[in-house]
Amino acid sequence: MIPLNENLVRNFTYIENLAVLEHDFHKNKIPAEDPFDPEQFKSTADLVNSLLKNHLANTKTRGLKLTDPTILLEKAMKLMGSESSTVAKFDAKKLESILELYMSTGIPVQSTGYMGRQFSSPLPLSGITDFVSSIINQPSSFYEAAQLPNVVEQIVADKFYNLIGWNNHDPAMVTTSGGSLANMTAILAARNNAFPEIWKKGVMGIDKNLLPAIAVSEDVHYSITRAVGILGIGEDQVIKLPTNKKKQICINQVETVLDEAAAKGLKVFCLVASAGSTSIGAIDPINELGDITRKRNIWLHVDGAHGGGFLMSNKLKHKLNGIHKVDSFIIDAHKMLFVPGTCTLLFYKDKQKAKGAFQQKASYVFEKNEDIYTKYDSAEKNFECTKRPMIMNLWVPWAMYGKSVYSNKLEYLYQLTQKAYRTILIQKDFIAHHQPESNIFCFSYIPENLPKILNFDFQLAIRNVLKEEGKFFISKVEIDGNTVLRVVFMNHNIKIEKFEQLLDEIRNIGQKIIKNWTKNN
Ligand SMILES: *Cc1c(COP(=O)(O)O)cnc(C)c1O
Repeated sequence: MIPLNENLVRNFTYIENLAVLEHDFHKNKIPAEDPFDPEQFKSTADLVNSLLKNHLANTKTRGLKLTDPTILLEKAMKLMGSESSTVAKFDAKKLESILELYMSTGIPVQSTGYMGRQFSSPLPLSGITDFVSSIINQPSSFYEAAQLPNVVEQIVADKFYNLIGWNNHDPAMVTTSGGSLANMTAILAARNNAFPEIWKKGVMGIDKNLLPAIAVSEDVHYSITRAVGILGIGEDQVIKLPTNKKKQICINQVETVLDEAAAKGLKVFCLVASAGSTSIGAIDPINELGDITRKRNIWLHVDGAHGGGFLMSNKLKHKLNGIHKVDSFIIDAHKMLFVPGTCTLLFYKDKQKAKGAFQQKASYVFEKNEDIYTKYDSAEKNFECTKRPMIMNLWVPWAMYGKSVYSNKLEYLYQLTQKAYRTILIQKDFIAHHQPESNIFCFSYIPENLPKILNFDFQLAIRNVLKEEGKFFISKVEIDGNTVLRVVFMNHNIKIEKFEQLLDEIRNIGQKIIKNWTKNN
């Protein structure tokens, strides 16, 4: 018999209060207009659809006028209702104001003046699929919660294994929220593969005379060095591989650098190459790096966040020559496959090593109990527990339009970038900093009358005025210590004439800046 303890006594008092709760429950009527009501949903969605249609139809050339955040804050605060214990009545006009404010303050990705960043106006069907996912809500780390997304993940994976040339392997693919997380997951798998003790014993379990180190391109994305910090490897153990003029890893220097690292007592367990560097879109020599890393038993990871999507195009996939040799690589579908953020595909050549990312022993247990359903779970391969069924955003347009919906756009953007390069080559007052390897292109405006010594950054000044004048949105990047202008072509509605207009605009702005400066100096 259980003695009547204090807890039980407390429970009795609680039950007494139930009557009060019950009374409150009946008082608290659900409002006539129920925010969860399907009819209410339908009318709201109809309204939103018309707003979005107008939004997409507005392809006017414009840049990005930034709103003073304090003004925006005030506007947003005004849109908040007063708090009350009853649910407020639905106000369509107010929703319209909220959404209009949201849309009008965004980067105008569908404008033909937008040449600034690596994200695009997504394929509408992809966005619609995302909307559906948000309403039906199927977190996809487990088959049980998201059946179709997990099956589809297998289909998409198989398509890519074919494109990569992994037919004779036992590969794995997992989706994760963003390239940064995917890069970290891959490096974690590489680390655990080379240091099997580390998962259990932590960094203390490492032989102090053989410290884990990682070799990366000088121009590697910051998410890699960040992951290295998180994984306890340490910045001092990041070996930088020199790059050539095209900002690709200098293949003939790699072995020397690796030998030097080994002589210092470092165990380089992973080499990270880029397929489309963020700065200029450079693609490292994957094929040759594949041979070197295989010979030295180093894990080769390719960060294809930007350019990995080239695999989709028969005309462009040669750019990723040797991709079948890598141990892991990633593609951000929310960049060059035009789906809304985020959707990243992480590939492993060897399925068993994919499981090594997160606690190897547990995955063995998992394997034993695997049934026909749990076989499709991805939880053991990805960091996230609740995960969006992001694969649907890539697969639904693929199923509906075929792969060409991706490859045609990619090829157009690539050709447009080559054309922009040739356009710059014949201008006397512009210089190209590289022949573009993807859809990213960097150049500078260097007119004859540019004063030799300026006390400010000329290219940066141009970029900032350009943005403020509100017609074009381009970015800038530093190359060898100098700021240069950078365009990323993500919009297939841009014609080469638009790029020529951009150059004229840059000339006008540049000349104005020079005139002002000369007047005052
Ligand atoms: C964008 C990018 C990343 C980071 O990916 P996110 O999806 O933004 O987290 C990593 N590497 C490269 C080369 C990138 O271009």
